[in-house]
Amino acid sequence: MAAHRSGRALVVREPGEVVLEDRTVEAGGGLLVEPYFVGLCGTDLEIIRGDLDPAYTRYPLVLGHEWSGRVVEAAGGFAPGDPVVVEGVFPCSVCGPCREGRTNMCANYEELGFTLDGAAGPAVAAPAHLVHRLCDDVPLAAGALVEPAAVVLRALTEIDIAPGSSVLVIGDGTVGLLAAQLARMWSPASVAMAGRRPAQETLATTAAGVDDFTVDVPNAEGYDVVVEAAGSTVAVENALRAARPGGQVLLLGIAGHGRSANLLVDDVVNKDLRIRGSFSYTAAAWATTVRLLNSGRFRPLPLVTHRLPLDRYSDALDLLATPSGEPRGKILIEMKGTSK
Ligand SMILES: [Zn+2]
Ligand SMILES: [Zn+2]
Repeated sequence: MAAHRSGRALVVREPGEVVLEDRTVEAGGGLLVEPYFVGLCGTDLEIIRGDLDPAYTRYPLVLGHEWSGRVVEAAGGFAPGDPVVVEGVFPCSVCGPCREGRTNMCANYEELGFTLDGAAGPAVAAPAHLVHRLCDDVPLAAGALVEPAAVVLRALTEIDIAPGSSVLVIGDGTVGLLAAQLARMWSPASVAMAGRRPAQETLATTAAGVDDFTVDVPNAEGYDVVVEAAGSTVAVENALRAARPGGQVLLLGIAGHGRSANLLVDDVVNKDLRIRGSFSYTAAAWATTVRLLNSGRFRPLPLVTHRLPLDRYSDALDLLATPSGEPRGKILIEMKGTSK
């Protein structure tokens, strides 16, 4: 029989119903990868609640779009046990956007953990060309941050961060922390963060290299670049306010399907603002993120604050949904040992 793995999977049967179920995943024509670490994020909560645009989800669904693992069986130039990450967006490669390299806008959108079963299960089968080898000295847990980092990196490359500029990140979740860390590669003079929880300050300043952390309102006005990573409509409004005349605003957060922000038209026009949105990541951004991780220039592991076994998935989801007085970075589910 072809390579396969059976075991428990974290399944959203329909919005509001999350269970552990037995699943079997076969390699099919692809490479079989056993997940070791699966990161949870706010988007998983939106999938569970049914808040995401229905065009981007399919139920029942195995969760898990941020993850790393090991190759099960030799194939496609990989050896068993190779540490890898897998591009979650499966581009069709033939539509107009794919041909232009904008694989994030593929007209035949399919993504692990959204429309395809994700990594919080016994295995993932993927085309070998979407599988990326990690260096042996890269902690496998760090690989689980490649997905959110690729989203952030792709967005940052779409704007112009001049050396010496001032950057403000609004939002203190993992995406905000990654944005602060990765923005450093453009050599800005300063990176400030306007967060929501005082407990995040240490994580922001030590793990993400933030120079100046404030709660709710930024310390200053007139930033060259403002990155909205909070995923709320108020954060979008604050971002437009905090940018300097001629500045740039990057919208990274997803505020929820159908929600609107108050657009202060005067601010946008009179301040000559450039506003940019960015969705997901391209194949190129993914490859760059893996390269940065393998070279040691990108070290996201300090952003991981919690690791829980699959059995404790509901504790993990509670941790994510309910802010506590503790610092909270990336929450990982440890999958190893759940398949057979
Ligand atoms: Zn995510
Ligand atoms: Zn396509």
